[in-house]
Amino acid sequence: MPTQLITTIEDLRRATQAKTKIAFVPTMGNLHAGHIDLVKAARNELGTHPEYCVVVSIFVNPLQFGPSEDFASYPRTLEADLVQLEGLADIVFAPDVVELYPEANLAKGELGQTMTITPPPLANTLCGLSRPGHFSGVATVVMKLFQIVQPTSAYFGKKDFQQLRVIQELVKQFHLPIEIYPVDTRREADGLAMSSRNGYLNKMERAEAVRLHKVLIMAKEAILRHESLEAIEQQCSQYLTQLGWIVDYVAIRSTHTLLPPSNNEKEFVILAAAKLGKTRLIDNITLQIND
Ligand code: AMP
Repeated sequence: MPTQLITTIEDLRRATQAKTKIAFVPTMGNLHAGHIDLVKAARNELGTHPEYCVVVSIFVNPLQFGPSEDFASYPRTLEADLVQLEGLADIVFAPDVVELYPEANLAKGELGQTMTITPPPLANTLCGLSRPGHFSGVATVVMKLFQIVQPTSAYFGKKDFQQLRVIQELVKQFHLPIEIYPVDTRREADGLAMSSRNGYLNKMERAEAVRLHKVLIMAKEAILRHESLEAIEQQCSQYLTQLGWIVDYVAIRSTHTLLPPSNNEKEFVILAAAKLGKTRLIDNITLQIND
């Protein structure tokens, strides 16, 4: 079956009505190999059974962008995305803003979304501090998409670790009958985490960008040498700053709470967010300590 492009909720509901399993991959499009890993994982789960269906959504969600962020300039490449998804996804759901925000008044720049999801406390740290409202916007649009697509499973990248944790809490706290599958971060050959925003980098910035991943690895090695976590965070942050980055955070946290780890913590995530020129990049790696 060729991949079907659907833009309305009504058509999507009709197309998925008889499906007994739906694996869902929400994206903002401008697809790269990291996104495709998620879609392949969804396809691997379901195979090609006629009653099963892999749905990929492509929607640049205005509710999760701050006023000075890149909503307007975010790359929109639907044609190329469809080529990549051909034969891999059964349905590509690419609604416009009014389809998902029926009360929107675009002329006034208002979305009319008066009810939103308040994300859990773990959204109030890290990116939640520098991007107020971001995770509420993410949780709200994912809740909408879950209601529309009614998936049995959904795939999210570990690249956006805090987002993944917010979605896991959403599913748990609202009893959503959806299995969430985290997928490993796909990297370029030099280690840079793939991201649609990498396309904003000029040649010099692109060469420097890999440093973010290198710093995370340095931090991991320092943790294994039992150095002080605060000192590691500070050194990594200073190092990036010296190299011209505007650092938002380098943070060593508990994987579960995203809070500073307790003394007997075994599962760490090391996260970083920093700007290179105008481009904000994020990355993270996890670390499990076995006694
Ligand atoms: P986005 O289009 O940026 O909203 O991302 C859609 C999904 O793809 C999210 O679950 C992301 O975490 C995931 N994703 C983005 N980049 C990567 C990557 N490099 N490796 C794996 N998953 C990714």
